[in-house]
Amino acid sequence: MADSVYERIGVPDVINATGTKTRIGGSRIRPAAAEAMCEAADGFARISDLQARASELIQEVTGAQAGYVCSGASACLTLAAAATIAGNDLAAMAQLPDTEGLADEIVVPRTHRTGYDHAYRIAGATIVDVGTNDAHLGTGAENTELWEIDAAITEDTAAVAYMQKSYSRPPLEDVVEIAHERDVPVIVDAAAELPPVENLERFVEMGVDLVAFSGGKAIRGPQTTGFLAGREDLIRSVAAQHLDMHAAEDAWVPPSELLDVDALGGVPRQGIGRGMKVGKEELVGLITALELFLEEDQDERLAEWQRRAETIAEGLSDLDGVETSLTEAGKTAVTPEVVVSPETTTETSATTVVRELREETPRIYVGADDLDRNQFTVNPMCLTDEEADYVIERLRDHLG
Ligand SMILES: *Cc1c(COP(=O)(O)O)cnc(C)c1O
Repeated sequence: MADSVYERIGVPDVINATGTKTRIGGSRIRPAAAEAMCEAADGFARISDLQARASELIQEVTGAQAGYVCSGASACLTLAAAATIAGNDLAAMAQLPDTEGLADEIVVPRTHRTGYDHAYRIAGATIVDVGTNDAHLGTGAENTELWEIDAAITEDTAAVAYMQKSYSRPPLEDVVEIAHERDVPVIVDAAAELPPVENLERFVEMGVDLVAFSGGKAIRGPQTTGFLAGREDLIRSVAAQHLDMHAAEDAWVPPSELLDVDALGGVPRQGIGRGMKVGKEELVGLITALELFLEEDQDERLAEWQRRAETIAEGLSDLDGVETSLTEAGKTAVTPEVVVSPETTTETSATTVVRELREETPRIYVGADDLDRNQFTVNPMCLTDEEADYVIERLRDHLG
């Protein structure tokens, strides 16, 4: 493989056979988005104007009232929490993350809790964990019942948060209904739920108040982007707590779609989101990538992933004692994945193979979610065909 910028600066290359993982650089940015970012770098635009333009595009593609670009889906969740806690109140915005006197509780079904909870807590939110893990008992019991969410909503509730996966329960529609009956907004983490492209509209149609998508996964925009789609009043609050606004009030003429000077009653100070800034390059890159993602032939892309996954599975099929199978797209990942179970010997197990692959040059990353079952996964999404062949070759060497 040709020498790369990473090699030139003395950093080992990674062959990404695990899908869109932030720790190894997410995805391959679309070439046209990267070019647009270079052009954007050599000029200036008002960030709020770029955000207003992005909002227009997000409205178009999601059907939401408004949209906003943050520095990743995780930052979107922080700003979503800040918006549901502070609303349109300048003093509350300035107070965060101190939430004394403010409704700051975010109700989260226990099985929706992830490391990304921290994103909500950064804004000052307190997580209220509801439900159990009873579905694992094999009795047919549910993890979280709707009445449990209902019972957890009080006058201190800012929002209900929901992590969207194909297996998430209770159904999102029902959670939205319960929350809205009590006048509480619902925030959805759908960071990795694209494709299918239809999901851009799906959660908005269900009445979700704010939904977060990552810009650096299947959209293949800049790694440091994500966006929110949702209610205009909440998006306005996000903008007011994110944009750089050290400005003289009399000369302040921000885009009215995002900031209503009169309604706010003053210029917001640098808000809770100021440290999560998004540059002109990222905004242009995300807008370009999102447009291209929409134009892409989804079936063709899926067929490409399927073909590459099948090639990898076939490339390992004759190895003694090694079991391979293919998962279906949309089950554990948006793509089909090859599940590999090595023959366990004293020297070899899924864990040792995964670790050794990471230590060679170039590093190879395969999926390590199922090591406890002596399995690893190979994801075709971020591989070129040339890299897929190299992965087969290296896997055969380790497993043979
Ligand atoms: C990837 C991911 C995030 C974070 O997205 P970033 O754009 O990297 O900030 C949050 N939640 C879930 C469920 C994810 O898969």
